[in-house]
Amino acid sequence: MAVEIVDACVNCFACIDVCPSSAIDEGKSHMLVNAKKCTECEGDFADPQCASICPIETAILDSSGLAINPPGSLTGIPPEKMNAAIMEIKAR
Ligand code: SF4
Ligand code: SF4
Repeated sequence: MAVEIVDACVNCFACIDVCPSSAIDEGKSHMLVNAKKCTECEGDFADPQCASICPIETAILDSSGLAINPPGSLTGIPPEKMNAAIMEIKAR
């Protein structure tokens, strides 16, 4: 059982220091979770601390591969509205 940090990570470093298992390291293009060390914070915290502090939606996946902070969860912007805004900006 481990979380995974994926390409959406912007390398802000916020998650490294909050991990109780020292499971997060700098990778070549983004942070990486050492699956052998990650406990999903069980026994230490009620929630995965990396995902609690991460400012980027979809950067951290749970052990099922689902984003712990899904689109819209941090910004409060519904995903369809965000997609429409991105399309509009790209069309300019
Ligand atoms: S879920 Fe907890 S133990 Fe796993 S990488 Fe994130 S902070 Fe570390
Ligand atoms: S807090 Fe999120 S965006 Fe920042 S380094 Fe960790 S996974 Fe990447």
